[in-house]
Amino acid sequence: MTTPTDDAVRRAVGAVIDPELRRPIAELDMVRDISVANGAASVGIVLTIVGCPAADRISADVRAAAASVPGVTDVALHVGVMSPAERRALTERLRGGRPAREMPFGPGSLTRVIAVTSGKGGVGKSTVTANLAVALARRGLSVGLVDADVHGFSIPGLLGLVDADGNVPQPTRIDDLMLPPVAYGVKVISIGMFLRRAHGEAPVGAVAWRGPMLHRTVQQFLTDVYFGDIDVLLLDMPPGTGDIAISVGQLLPHAEVLVVTTPQPAASDVAVRSGVVARQTGQRVTGVVENMSAMTLPDGTSFALFGAGGGAVVAETLSTDAEPVRLLGSIPLSTHLRTDGDAGTPVVVAHPDDPAALAITVLAEILAAAPRGLAGRSLPLRPE
Ligand code: ADP
Repeated sequence: MTTPTDDAVRRAVGAVIDPELRRPIAELDMVRDISVANGAASVGIVLTIVGCPAADRISADVRAAAASVPGVTDVALHVGVMSPAERRALTERLRGGRPAREMPFGPGSLTRVIAVTSGKGGVGKSTVTANLAVALARRGLSVGLVDADVHGFSIPGLLGLVDADGNVPQPTRIDDLMLPPVAYGVKVISIGMFLRRAHGEAPVGAVAWRGPMLHRTVQQFLTDVYFGDIDVLLLDMPPGTGDIAISVGQLLPHAEVLVVTTPQPAASDVAVRSGVVARQTGQRVTGVVENMSAMTLPDGTSFALFGAGGGAVVAETLSTDAEPVRLLGSIPLSTHLRTDGDAGTPVVVAHPDDPAALAITVLAEILAAAPRGLAGRSLPLRPE
């Protein structure tokens, strides 16, 4: 019979992944005393905070990991909590040595930041953003999504992050670091996570904040949320060219901007304006997405409820000699896109063969094809 060693159990336990921090617990310094005698393993771990929501899952996984070591017949688990000093050391490590309050997505960051904007509301910007995030995650990219549409936050609902009372789970906090809930592989943060509502009622304290408060909220989302080393950060911007657009422009001047519009010519003008404002803050308009384009009916005819051509017009109008702007995709009208969104299961997951899901998947491919990091980003140098 195999005699298990302390080290073998330590290795197995240490490899357990913390479901919120998404790193092995050994790396997070959560493993404590471990010993084995006559097949009985005694395993000590510490959680980051008291009442850690992931406690049950971590405990079960640790037990299973220890029990999986050949020769272990019994596991006694001892669960403690990190001391404030241990927690501070951990949050420092998670911030990658960056001081608290410093925004990790500044100009030196390798994360691509894509702000999705539109001229007016109701064009499907949030629906497209949520699905795009999931499609990028399904391509293997590590993706974060900030719901900066503070007046009309809909991202949690679109990604199924809502309980029966309409509440959105609050992020777990480790001191001043917030761990974003993960939905369909996407790390999500939304103002909706900080508002509570009683059953069936409108959210308490719906967001009628003024500029400075909005600025602070977005800044806090970017600074205090632990996204880790992500490839892409998507921001679902509020429609129009208000305070948030300007704040994000200041906080993330190197962000790329994706403009969503409908095919309707009347929608084009306001969409163009949102692109122009983004550019004034130094951001680059990376492309235009036309949503609610013509759908093909079962008899094969094309049904263009909102007309045609709006996306191409916006792309053309925003193009300059130095910075051509392309129409990156047209997403057709789709019942599944709407009903899956209402049900909290993105269409790219629920009906990946739906024409709208396919169009969003292609859009994700096009965006993912651009290199990660600084390559392709214009340098802040100007010829004399
Ligand atoms: P926005 O973020 O621009 O305000 P939403 O994403 O909230 O817009 O979408 C507005 C409504 O339109 C939602 O009910 C959504 O399900 C629906 N919708 C969005 N895109 C489409 C589409 N391509 N086909 C059908 N319905 C759509």
